[in-house]
Amino acid sequence: MDIVIATSNQNKLKEFKALLKGCAVTILSLKDFPRIPPIVEDGKSFYENALKKATTVVHHTGKFTIADDSGLEVEYLGGKPGVYSSRFAGEDANDEENNARLLKELQDVPFDKRGACFKCVLVMAKPEGETAFVEGECKGIIIDELRGHYGFGYDPLFLVPEYDKTFSEIKPEEKNKISHRAKALQKLLKLLPDYLPEV
Ligand code: IMP
Repeated sequence: MDIVIATSNQNKLKEFKALLKGCAVTILSLKDFPRIPPIVEDGKSFYENALKKATTVVHHTGKFTIADDSGLEVEYLGGKPGVYSSRFAGEDANDEENNARLLKELQDVPFDKRGACFKCVLVMAKPEGETAFVEGECKGIIIDELRGHYGFGYDPLFLVPEYDKTFSEIKPEEKNKISHRAKALQKLLKLLPDYLPEV
């Protein structure tokens, strides 16, 4: 059976593939459907964005779809960058620029006020129209310098206290056990047998 992951982000796709290893499914992504028009992520919440992606992609492909929306919420910044995580430093900003903006916003902020949380919402959409969602989160601290080389996005600034390492210093296999996406996916895997008995 085919499952479409509604992303063209290769890093996320890799994480999904690793986490769904062992399920009897063929994983496709937006790269396999180049005719689907770009989906504007203009929702006010991760859920709204994920729902929009899932329903648009299921409509175009007719295949069971999983869409995610995720991002970083920083306490001191009142939950920012949130749904703006990928464009915190501007519409076409890259990871480096977003990290630089985050460091600037938190300049001189003491460590006890630098709490943050990665959040992930996954929406599953069936071709028949039914949808369901799960959420996952991972708490950490935003440090004041970039550390590590693995991962993407805000990983080099996100320290996981239990490991005393940033997501970029934790091997991908390990991150895939504790990340917000991993936690959401583990919940989704529990739902899947009822939701999609053919898997
Ligand atoms: P989207 O879910 O693709 O809309 O974008 C989420 C944005 O949040 C990414 O571009 C990253 O900046 C950030 N993000 C989400 N998940 C992670 C993660 O696991 N590590 C680092 N950054 C992340």
